[in-house]
This record gives sequence, C-alpha cells and structure tokens, in this order.
Amino acid sequence: MKLILRTYNLKLKHTFRISRKSIDFQPSLIVELQDDGFYGYGEATSNPYYNITLEILQDDIKKVRHVVEAALYETPEEFWLKINPFLKDNPFALCALDNAYNDLYARKKGKKMYELWNYDINHNPLTNYTIGIDSIENMVLKMKGFPWPIYKIKLGTPEDIAIVTELRKHSDAVFRVDANCAWTVEEALSNAAILKDLGVEFIEQPLKADNWEGQREVFENSVLPIMADESCIAEGDIAKCHNHFHGVNIKLMKCGGITPGKRMITEAKKLGLKTMVGCMTESTVGISAIAHLLPELDFVDMDGALLLAQDIASGVTIKNGKTYYPDRTGAGVILF
Ligand SMILES: [Mg+2]
Repeated sequence: MKLILRTYNLKLKHTFRISRKSIDFQPSLIVELQDDGFYGYGEATSNPYYNITLEILQDDIKKVRHVVEAALYETPEEFWLKINPFLKDNPFALCALDNAYNDLYARKKGKKMYELWNYDINHNPLTNYTIGIDSIENMVLKMKGFPWPIYKIKLGTPEDIAIVTELRKHSDAVFRVDANCAWTVEEALSNAAILKDLGVEFIEQPLKADNWEGQREVFENSVLPIMADESCIAEGDIAKCHNHFHGVNIKLMKCGGITPGKRMITEAKKLGLKTMVGCMTESTVGISAIAHLLPELDFVDMDGALLLAQDIASGVTIKNGKTYYPDRTGAGVILF
C-alpha cells in the first residue's frame, strides 16, 4: 500500500469567529492510500485548541508510514488497532489515516461506506449551517444570505441573548447554539430559559470542558438539552457524559476516525444519549466521510465545505440541509 500526503490552505467565504478564535484560512492535510488500483482519502485540519498543526500531522503520519504501507487485507478495525499505538497522542492524524482506509476498503468491496455498514439512509437528519460570531448586523446578513432550515449560532459574547433575539426576527428556522465553553453555570441556566422561548433546540458545550460538577447541575436544571463537544473527545468520554449531558457531538478528528466514531455512536445510543457528529472546517473530503454516518445520528453539523470559498474535491453535496451521495463507491470523493 502506498501513502501520499497533500497539504492545502482552504480559504473561507467569511472570517470565521467562535468564542476563542478567528480564522480566514483553514490549513488541511489530505491523506491518500493507494492499493491494487484502488484509492481512499482521509482529511485532518489544523486546530490550535488541540495543538495540531500541519507539520505535526505530517511528522506523526510519517512515523507510522512503515506500518501503514505494510498493511494487507485487514479490516478497518484491524488496521485501526495496528496504527493506534503509534498515534495515541494525535487523534487527528489517526483520523485521516483511518478514514482513508475505510474509504479504500469500501471501494475494494465495490460498495459505498454506508452500504457496507448496512445503514438505511432514508431517515437522515438535515445538517445545520453555522453562523460564526460577528457584529449582530453581520450575523443577520450571513444568515439571510444563506437560507437554510437549521442554523447553529456560535455564542460566547457579552451580547448572546441580543444576537439570538435579533436573528429570530429574521428567520423561522431551527436554531441551535454553541457557547464553546464560554458560560458559567448560572449563565447556562438563565440563558437556556430565554433561548427556549426563542425556539432554540439545544445548547452545545456551555461550560469549560472539565467542569463536570457544574455540568451536572446544568444537566439537571436546564430547560434545554445540552450537548457535549469539548467535554467529549474520545471513546472513554461517552460514559463520562452520561448523566451530565443529554447528548454528545462526536468529531472524527478528536476521537481518531470513523472506526472509533462508530463505536462511540453505538455506546452513546445504548446509554440513551442523543448522537451528533460535528465537523472541523473540513473540505468535501472530510464531510463525505461524516455523511456515511448520518443514518445513526440525531443531529449533524457537517457544513465545513459550505463555509469554503473554494473546495478541493467533489463528493457528497448538501442542498437546503439534505445530503446527496454521488454514485461512487467508498466515501464517493474525487480530488480536483
Ligand atoms: Mg462545538
């Protein structure tokens, strides 16, 4: 098997701001695995919150190149177990390799990934479109310029309630909010009551990631469901989120790829947690991988490619929240 790495600097349509950062470009690494005339793609994006740069991604993947290139006929689960010990500290790199291998494996079997997993795509959830933090006026313009059935609104500013109140005047869409760890327990509880009246569906990660005691209080008293994001990183975190959150937003780069992501979804469902998969400003390469998990999810945030000024691949397409799969095997991706 041959491993090829490509780096990109994805330009965003708008400066993207959340409670702790602001970006205009998203660096991204595409991993290609080639074997026997077939290929598979995986993606990992850089992320300062998790200390991931393209250099670190490439260095860590190169360390495991000999193991990857020696792989033969393994299932994705076997492949993941083989490379996991080398990349325990870099789940982003693990994700890019795991997703590429899952794609390659499905292509070799002549199936789309969701077909290989026996998932029924007829009841897929719609994806939200994210409105990053900006002046209230600009947030309204961004929303109105992108008519959509579900918006995820980034919060964590001194004017959070004013933002949602103003956006609500201009749209009847479903709203979700993401505070990205910026609120206190008191703010989370009082905001939840007001946001519920403004037609908000759920709140994502109100408190700091390690504030489990505070989160328990919010979980027990909030009038809106609370989804974990920064508090739910890897497989061991699902059990921790039980009785602290109503659901989990799993991200493939945080947990190490589709293979552990599927296990996390199964565990979350067993514990009665709502399931969601989120993206990290990936191109259509990463978004197409997420799309194959849709049948197992209650909610999805896979707008990464929609936020780009220019994409680097064709794969799944999203129109008005609904996902359409190309008539191709694997994840269905072709690089431009
Ligand atoms: Mg989030």
